[in-house]
Amino acid sequence: MPRLQGVPASPGIAMGPAHRLSGPNFHVPHENIEPAQVEAEIARFNEACERAKERTRELRCEVESRLGSVPAKIFDPQLLMLEDPDLIEATLRYIRDSFLTAQRAFDLRLLEFRSQWLEVTHAMVVDRLADLADVRMRVLSALIEPDDNYFATEWPEEPVILVASELVPSRMAELDRDRVLGIATDAGTRTSHASILARSMGVPAIVGLVDVSARVDNGVEMILDGHRGRVVINPSDTEREWFRNRDVQLREVQKDLKELAALEPVTLDGTRLELHANLELPSDAGMAAAVGPDGVGLLRTEFLVVGMNVIPEEEEQYQAFKSITEVFDPRPVVIRTYDLGGDKFPMFLPLLSEENPFLGWRGIRIYTMIPKLFHNQVRAILRAAACGTVRMLLPLVNSVDEVLAVREVIAKAKRELEEEGLEHALCPIGVMLETPAAIAIAEILGRHVDFFSLGTNDLAQYALAVDRGNAQLSEYYDPFHPALLRLIRDAVVAARETGLPINSCGESASDTLGVLLLISCGLRSLSCTPSAIPEIKKLIRSIDLEHVERVAGQLLDAQTGKEVRERLRAAFGDVVDLSTSAGLSGSQ
Ligand code: PEP
Ligand code: MG
Repeated sequence: MPRLQGVPASPGIAMGPAHRLSGPNFHVPHENIEPAQVEAEIARFNEACERAKERTRELRCEVESRLGSVPAKIFDPQLLMLEDPDLIEATLRYIRDSFLTAQRAFDLRLLEFRSQWLEVTHAMVVDRLADLADVRMRVLSALIEPDDNYFATEWPEEPVILVASELVPSRMAELDRDRVLGIATDAGTRTSHASILARSMGVPAIVGLVDVSARVDNGVEMILDGHRGRVVINPSDTEREWFRNRDVQLREVQKDLKELAALEPVTLDGTRLELHANLELPSDAGMAAAVGPDGVGLLRTEFLVVGMNVIPEEEEQYQAFKSITEVFDPRPVVIRTYDLGGDKFPMFLPLLSEENPFLGWRGIRIYTMIPKLFHNQVRAILRAAACGTVRMLLPLVNSVDEVLAVREVIAKAKRELEEEGLEHALCPIGVMLETPAAIAIAEILGRHVDFFSLGTNDLAQYALAVDRGNAQLSEYYDPFHPALLRLIRDAVVAARETGLPINSCGESASDTLGVLLLISCGLRSLSCTPSAIPEIKKLIRSIDLEHVERVAGQLLDAQTGKEVRERLRAAFGDVVDLSTSAGLSGSQ
């Protein structure tokens, strides 16, 4: 039965009938007004903007009370847009000078915005287009359908899987959670505001499915695996059974959660491993802490800048880091400094037109472009370090010079904080090992840092020369490739030789088969998505390290990723039920 691979945006398994959401797609004809009507039309437009702002603020409040302050912030860029002189004044000029109706003038200005932004291919701009579409519908509905009920839709009786080309944030916020089993969209990114909301609401979601909305009709049965980003349309009985079992297994693990949270990730032979959580939003901290991790192995800080027009203030960052540190205290929190560029480009960064953004201005390289961005963040991290156990992690490092430049910024920030009398503390500095180059010189980098973190997501992308976000290339993006196995082993050896701790925080650590690979390569500290912790803990508690070491030798003989997986399955099938592992690559 047709299977689609998209980008997993919110975990969970959903099964049920599809329900397609379309529009409202306001068609705005080119209409003129009489010169005498200009002032009234301007008043009508201003009133519509006020109503749109009012409704957006209401939504913000509703989301804040239901889901917390962080998801609520996703409406801020929309409020900023509704006050942007570039948008508002230009619309008024079209009304005044070209005698256009308010809706036509506004739509024309938005079209101009859109076409400027479309020239830029960065995914963060794509995220902004969804905000723009939201603002468009909100204002046009106030002008054209003043009952402001623009999301009213025929809703089936039974809960459904929503299928759409894309969901704008306010439509997500208005969804009735009890009637939505899951969400599948053609477009969208993991960082889009709709995805952030889906995660906060606990609705399984998959985005970037390209043409799912054209492939299904209302009522067609679908299965969504939000952990792996897989969709099955019209599933066979066997597929239903398989996913039902997987769902039951995952739910059972959830049920045992309390018991598991209190247990340690100790192997059968008594070796204590470390199992940390990856965090993307401060609002997830409580839920992550409840599953009993050893700490936060990776706090991605991009939530502070997604969709933002301005560089975040130090105070805002400090408060966010402090709140997370306090939730986990005394467990450590590894704060990774901004990993922007590539697929994450906030609006305040100069948008560079790059042929290969993932090989361009990304990660640590951006800090030289906007020194203030990094300087603010370093100050916030040093201040948070006074509130708990904090570590600072640098993304996409390839050279010692980059680390030394960061050390200078840290020294400067420390001097300033001292002069200002603000409480702060120095903390260990680590680097991501996520390029083959970084692993090749890990032993040199190790002379200047305090710890390593292995980023298997980017490592696979850069070692195999495969865009990690390109679903059509998923067959080539194989985290079990023998080349990766060797690189991971090299990283572990370098860490051992330099005497530095190493943790693995890419997606491989959230997948049972991936974890077996990492442990067999010598990793003893892992960091994974909070929802995977119980499953991974259970796995660790059922393996014997001596057995793993014997298998490790056999893995080195494997000639392909497929063979690596087969050997892992053959070796561990009896100690752990691998049916919950879908593997990470499409080529199984
Ligand atoms: C990685 O590359 O493995 C990683 C953990 O970082 P990110 O996925 O944020 O690039
Ligand atoms: Mg990375």
